[in-house]
Amino acid sequence: MSNSYSGQLVSYACDDKKSVGRHHDETHPTYRNEYQRDRDRIIHSAAFRRLEYKTQVFVNHEGDLFRTRLTHSLEVAQIARSIARELRLHEDLSEAIALAHDLGHTPFGHAGQTALNNCMKDCGGFEHNLQSLRVIDKLEQKYADFDGLNLTFETREGILKHCSTTNAKKLGDVGQRFLDKTQPSLEAQLTDYSDETAYNNHDIDDGIRYGLITIDDLLKIELFRDQYDIVNKKYPGLDDKKLLHEIIRRMINVMVVDLIDTSRENIASANLNSIDDVRCQNKRIMAFSSEMNDKKLELKQFLRNNLYQHYRVHRMSKKAAVVIDSLFTAFMEDQKILPTEAIDHCHILKDKHGDKGIARGISDYIAGMTDRYAIVEYERIFNPRQLSFVNLIP
Ligand code: MG
Repeated sequence: MSNSYSGQLVSYACDDKKSVGRHHDETHPTYRNEYQRDRDRIIHSAAFRRLEYKTQVFVNHEGDLFRTRLTHSLEVAQIARSIARELRLHEDLSEAIALAHDLGHTPFGHAGQTALNNCMKDCGGFEHNLQSLRVIDKLEQKYADFDGLNLTFETREGILKHCSTTNAKKLGDVGQRFLDKTQPSLEAQLTDYSDETAYNNHDIDDGIRYGLITIDDLLKIELFRDQYDIVNKKYPGLDDKKLLHEIIRRMINVMVVDLIDTSRENIASANLNSIDDVRCQNKRIMAFSSEMNDKKLELKQFLRNNLYQHYRVHRMSKKAAVVIDSLFTAFMEDQKILPTEAIDHCHILKDKHGDKGIARGISDYIAGMTDRYAIVEYERIFNPRQLSFVNLIP
């Protein structure tokens, strides 16, 4: 008996019993449904464990209190599951997508991705979203019968949030919707918005802890100020730590409620009856209200100008770019300094794709590094003080 809850789902949800399927056929799990199996494979993957030491905005070693990609992914899963359950969509599928959505991220957050993309500009570029798919489809090597995790189409579709036409043509099944201009499942759509809701709010929290922005700065932002006024009226004189948490938890709630209410109206007016009805829409069914979109835009602009472009973040990004760029250049010049597993991977890709295959193999190796591993690897290769037998220890 698989643990399906098909009967509790709306007719336009993804039904685990009607999954498009996996690339390699497998027997059905015994006490789990297909999307639970996907989620469990993601949790047991090496790439998932590495999320603990990868950053969003701040470098991992700067403090234990900041979000990492792992805690971010768990927050996204929490928000996504709440929304899916309320709308009677498939909670397990949303959770699987949420937990996997950042698996392809490089070390050092967005700075790392920009640097690696730049290194790969003549060899197909680097894009974290495509890399997440590459991790689950190819790079995880632990199953006897297949490369990757052999996840269902629906989970893979949710992970690939955006894609250029050129890349879409190479991707087959999950790329097709970018060519047809159709929509992904509602579970995929809601997880995308859960991601945005999670990072907008936790970046405020981390930014304040880090001393880059202040509560006073944020009072210019309507979304923040509305909740500040409510909390301040109810709990006058609250200390800053509790005040901030009370505001942020309300901001997340207001955004989630808005998303559910607006999407529910869209579902009713679109008269959905099946997952095919969802896919053939010319725009997404899941949506925030236009008022919420305006407020979110104001918040995002604030975060961009005051947090992501803060000189201290820029300095960190600059260092991250130096590490990534130096490692990539050194490995391209001399593949003999790559660890055995990485060089074997490069040789396999070279046989298939020539020299560009080597670059892709190096990009896979670097993208898989955690922040601290990348720093240690940089030290091993470029710091002359490390010219000792210690270097022989992997
Ligand atoms: Mg994310």
